[in-house]
Amino acid sequence: MLRFLVVLALFVAAAFVVFVHARRAPQDMPWTRLDLGQPIGLFTGRKLAGLTQAPARCRALLDRAGVRFTAEPARREGGHCGYDDLVELDPGGALAAAWRPELKTACPVAAGLSVWLWEVVQPAAQHYIGSRVVAVDHYGSYNCRRMYGANRGPWSEHATADAIDVAGFRFADGTRITIKRDWKGDDARATFLHVARNGACKLFSTVLSPDYNAAHADHLHLDQARRGEWGWRACR
Ligand SMILES: [Zn+2]
Repeated sequence: MLRFLVVLALFVAAAFVVFVHARRAPQDMPWTRLDLGQPIGLFTGRKLAGLTQAPARCRALLDRAGVRFTAEPARREGGHCGYDDLVELDPGGALAAAWRPELKTACPVAAGLSVWLWEVVQPAAQHYIGSRVVAVDHYGSYNCRRMYGANRGPWSEHATADAIDVAGFRFADGTRITIKRDWKGDDARATFLHVARNGACKLFSTVLSPDYNAAHADHLHLDQARRGEWGWRACR
């Protein structure tokens, strides 16, 4: 009987702790709905990954967060390539940063990038560089190819526009930082890039940086691979 009461008391105490935390930080709970305007929570990345199966909900979330975009028509290319949730991001609106060149990507990638800019990149830019990011340089999203452009093997997440390769950042004060030139080193620029990579890991299913291999020496590969909300994740 005593053992039962102890277990019951522990259970009630644990439930109380979860209840209090759920009220204070709803984004940390697996059951709360994703809101792109909320701080990053423990399950934000998994909820973003779940958007790969919910294009309409993804577009509604972008809308609600004030991100301006144009939805593109669906496309099929062969048996392995194409998309049905492509959006072209407008640099105005809540995003307040441009993409060089203009960016068309799958909606869940756009949603991840939006939160990344607001919650990770801009705070790190102010802290380490003392200026605001006004544009992100990238090597593109949709590309009908296999991984590493090989002739065989698994298809790349780029083949469904579920990935983007970020090459660098341009700041309001004229500073330019690139993955290729600034990743290595121990100055503020390198720290900024590492903080940006680590933050991306909370928002994307796969993040591959120069730490992973030479193929990523000049960009951060960020993707929302279609492994489902509870699929495995990679941060390298
Ligand atoms: Zn890539």
